[in-house]
Amino acid sequence: MSQEQIPKTQLAAVSDDASGFEIREIPVVQANELEPGRALVKVLYSGVCHTDLHVIKDDWPVKAERPCIAGHEGAGIIVAINDPISKLKVGDKVGVKWIAHSCNQCEFCIAGDEPLCLEAKCSGINAQGSFMQYCPAYTSQLTPIPDNLDMAEAAPILCAGVTVYKALKNSRARAGQWIAIPGAGGGLGSLAVQYAKWMGLKVIAIDSGAEKKKYCEEIGAAAWVDFKESKDIVAAVKAATPDGLGPHAAIITSPQPEAYLIAMEYIRPRGTVVAVGLPPAGAYVKADVFFTVLNNKTLTSSYVGNRQDAIESLQIAADGHVKCRIQTVPFKALEKVYTQMAEGSLVGRAVLDLFA
Ligand code: NAD
Ligand code: ZN
Repeated sequence: MSQEQIPKTQLAAVSDDASGFEIREIPVVQANELEPGRALVKVLYSGVCHTDLHVIKDDWPVKAERPCIAGHEGAGIIVAINDPISKLKVGDKVGVKWIAHSCNQCEFCIAGDEPLCLEAKCSGINAQGSFMQYCPAYTSQLTPIPDNLDMAEAAPILCAGVTVYKALKNSRARAGQWIAIPGAGGGLGSLAVQYAKWMGLKVIAIDSGAEKKKYCEEIGAAAWVDFKESKDIVAAVKAATPDGLGPHAAIITSPQPEAYLIAMEYIRPRGTVVAVGLPPAGAYVKADVFFTVLNNKTLTSSYVGNRQDAIESLQIAADGHVKCRIQTVPFKALEKVYTQMAEGSLVGRAVLDLFA
């Protein structure tokens, strides 16, 4: 795209304070104004992650630098670039992720742990995210999107997909073993069910409601536990495994703290609980010290993924092994999406069409 086709103004979802956000017109950074190491990405679609809602509501100990623009599942096209070193070029399909920038030179980056980079910038916190039509993104963390993957379908993979793909790797669960996924009907959870199936795992889906149950079964969950209806979730999860010992691992994708109070109880001896969901400040994991030690249980965590995890998780989707259930909605529906997300009624992922 030539510079003439880059408009002077655009729509962006700007949050001035924790009371919410407003979709309003703001200037577009022009090609000749791009800072070195940046590309202007025309964002076609952006998934809405529960993280965006946490950020807007100031849920976490880490607060956004305001005014902020959230969004970190942005699938778009480079329309201008100011980076002579990068192999990226105008016309490339790329993803704007949660990690918006990493130095790629510190101890953590060198070891492939870019999310831990001490200079990391995060979309919506201290970098502009994908809830804008033209995002001046850092080239350091832009992810190429495979040509044969639909752009709207690519969007949720850029956070939800890569995060659960990495968390499953961190769970150490092997083909044939059982894994519990609290939050299985949501964005991260429903992708976790599918990546887990693809890895040969047997899934116990934990969430609530008939629609989420049906969806989890459709995408291959072997068992279902309704966390609102079950009188004893721990017993129900253990009973779902043939020997009654419980799953070998659990990936907690729930944004509510309750899921963290029981997971260490229902995993089997030598099992691993992977903390992924990020409830508001003040949430704790409950683990009985005596039985954690005697049963050799492990508590670990997983935070998004590195650039290679992003490439791999997108390729698995492009190969047709996972497909997020998306509802594509116009940009102006963002408020409604947040409401549905807060009440837990969204199944799969809502994806914004930034130009609809
Ligand atoms: P979502 O709203 O799409 O889905 C959450 C699901 O959890 C819903 O289906 C809800 O019904 C279910 N749930 C709520 N309470 C539950 C409980 N007690 N037990 C079982 N299920 C329960 O949210 P999402 O976009 O998938 O994000 C989930 C969480 O993951 C958020 O807290 C988000 O900030 C976090 N997150 C973490 C990382 C990371 O790197 N660790 C990355 C992305 C998102
Ligand atoms: Zn996210």
